[in-house]
Amino acid sequence: MTREPGFSTRAVHGVSPAMEQETPSVPIFQTSMFRFESSQAYAETAAFERPGSLYTRGYGNPTLDAFEAQMASLERTEAAMSFASGMAALHTVFTALATSGGRAVASTGLYGGTYALFTKVLPRYGITVDLVDASDLDAVAAALPGAAFFHVETISNPTMSVADLAALGALCKDHGVPASVDNTFASPYLVNPAAYGFDYVSHSATKYIGGHHDLIGGVVCTTEAGRTLLRDTVIDTGGTLGPFEAWLCLRGLMTLALRVERHSGNAAALATYLGSHPKVERVWYPGLESHPHHAVADALFEERGFGGMLSVEIAGGVEGGMAFCDALQVAWIATSLGGTHTLVGHAASTTHRQYSPEARRVAGIADGLVRISAGIEDAQDLLADVEQALEKV
Ligand SMILES: *Cc1c(COP(=O)(O)O)cnc(C)c1O
Repeated sequence: MTREPGFSTRAVHGVSPAMEQETPSVPIFQTSMFRFESSQAYAETAAFERPGSLYTRGYGNPTLDAFEAQMASLERTEAAMSFASGMAALHTVFTALATSGGRAVASTGLYGGTYALFTKVLPRYGITVDLVDASDLDAVAAALPGAAFFHVETISNPTMSVADLAALGALCKDHGVPASVDNTFASPYLVNPAAYGFDYVSHSATKYIGGHHDLIGGVVCTTEAGRTLLRDTVIDTGGTLGPFEAWLCLRGLMTLALRVERHSGNAAALATYLGSHPKVERVWYPGLESHPHHAVADALFEERGFGGMLSVEIAGGVEGGMAFCDALQVAWIATSLGGTHTLVGHAASTTHRQYSPEARRVAGIADGLVRISAGIEDAQDLLADVEQALEKV
């Protein structure tokens, strides 16, 4: 172009960051599309025959690429694919692996949204999911032949069951069944399930990865081939992460180790205190020797801690559990987990509302059970808070 660009042209064009020096944070490519120098370059990029970004919905964006590369590095997988939410990530894994008429196998201890996806949404498309107790390896082995995939959670709600990933990964390999794990509660800091043969390691990035209660996001860490499968699905279904959320996740990852260590320390302090309190019937925390999966957790997490999630059965049933939550002052009554603030919720009426009373009973969810996501506040303040709340129950 020979003429001097007009004001509006200059206002739109020519914005490119100076990128000659390294910065600790990746630029936010807050853009939906990318310009090509030629139609040939466009065609080759669209066919994934040439590196580059095309369209932020599945076809690449440098901020998303950076987040995915960091996640693959932290989960020790070849690649990763980011999603608009944890549910979008899981939905993409399941629908990429199973087709109409297919049958999958999953653990009975599931996040409520995943449980609803398996029991309400996927059956509408001719996919059935058999739920088995993942701690019963014989039952898992019996269910696996012919399954489209197996899905389990590293640590699952609300009794903080810890899956024996080594044994389950080996079983899936023996049966040639793709293995999927939701590693949200553990975070990549505590364990890397790909080391045990899990092909799809999913996270709700909304939780520990973001870590500050300020975004919704998801990610799946997998092989290059696995990523291509997920990418080809999500390009057409559309649940991709936004560039700003990817940037927040990248920022969160820098402090993940520090935060998870603090979360684990606070959860352990709460579990120990609550475990000896007369108004507490039972504490579920994998770090306590009384937890049925303590040995499994000990082997899996290799002294990096036992995570920030615990549950406590308050005496007095539904009323006791709710009164305890209502009396807390530092901890908030709120959904979600894995962030700065300590959050509590009464399980039967909130996170497990999608479960029938019978399914709740099978999952071991007592009426007075309160789930606690330990935040990063001072342990002494959290202990004083539960002490004063229990006095009021
Ligand atoms: C929150 C959560 C999800 C869903 O993630 P969203 O980001 O809320 O869609 C899935 N699995 C587990 C274990 C979760 O805690």
